[in-house]
Amino acid sequence: MALWECSACGSIREARCQPKKCQECGERETFIKKPGEAETASAKKAAGKAGK
Ligand SMILES: [Zn+2]
Repeated sequence: MALWECSACGSIREARCQPKKCQECGERETFIKKPGEAETASAKKAAGKAGK
C-alpha cells in the first residue's frame, strides 16, 4: 500500500493506486505519492548501518 497526499488540501490517503478524486476537497488527480512504509523501513535500515 502506498500513501498519497492531496496537493490541494493535504489530506493523506492509503491506496494501492493513485486516488482519482479527493473526498476531502473534491479536487481530481491532485494526489502525490509519498514514500511508503516499506521504503521508509529500508531507508531506516540503511541509515542505521551507516550510522554505526
Ligand atoms: Zn484534497
